[in-house]
Amino acid sequence: SKLERLQKVMAHAGVASRRKAEEMIKQGKVKVNGDVVKELGTKVGPNDDVEVEGVPLVKEVPVYYLLYKPRGVISSVKDDKGRKVVTDYLPEVEERIFPVGRLDYDTSGVLLLTNDGEFANLLMHPSHEIDKVYIAKTKGIPTAEELKSLKKGLTIDGEYMKAVHSKVMSTDSKKNTAIVKLILHEGKNRQVRKMFDALGYPVDKLKRERFGSITLQGMNAGDCRPLKPHEVKQLR
Ligand code: URA
Repeated sequence: SKLERLQKVMAHAGVASRRKAEEMIKQGKVKVNGDVVKELGTKVGPNDDVEVEGVPLVKEVPVYYLLYKPRGVISSVKDDKGRKVVTDYLPEVEERIFPVGRLDYDTSGVLLLTNDGEFANLLMHPSHEIDKVYIAKTKGIPTAEELKSLKKGLTIDGEYMKAVHSKVMSTDSKKNTAIVKLILHEGKNRQVRKMFDALGYPVDKLKRERFGSITLQGMNAGDCRPLKPHEVKQLR
């Protein structure tokens, strides 16, 4: 049967990133078949019982969903204040599914959800260079020169951020608004809003229309579908 490195198995189960899992192993927090294992190269198979800090790893089948997140929904699996959360839009499943990164409460668009922690960690890392394509409606109309500064990169509140591409798609001179496309590889908290705020053109409406090769084609806000195996492959 198939043997895999312990830290990989832990990451897959959503316990921690691979790096974090390695630390936990070294700290003696992980048991295999009842014995503490501190060796990083340890391989385990489907019949081995892994326990992390006393909690058995659940061997789950990985699942992957695409949600067209509507505005007015929180990117988490539960909310104390009873607001709508993204898992309200998923079929009732056994797996502990969580979103790959976040979209703001007021942002709509592509949101991936999975129980595969390693997949999620991979997609969220900027070095993986997945295009996140945003369409923003801005108050005021940014110039091409100003948009160039987003591609050059800028520091906002001590945090360096950079766009891959940015372009005005259309303008409404009467209302003094613009529709701007912005492509990021990074996924910092409220990054699009912060970048346009920094230019002096606050974002009025924001939608993520693409994540890598995944688009919202044929979907309405609130729709959810499983990703096809080839789509999961393309993202990796
Ligand atoms: N950037 C933002 O400002 N908000 C989002 O929801 C996603 C990216």
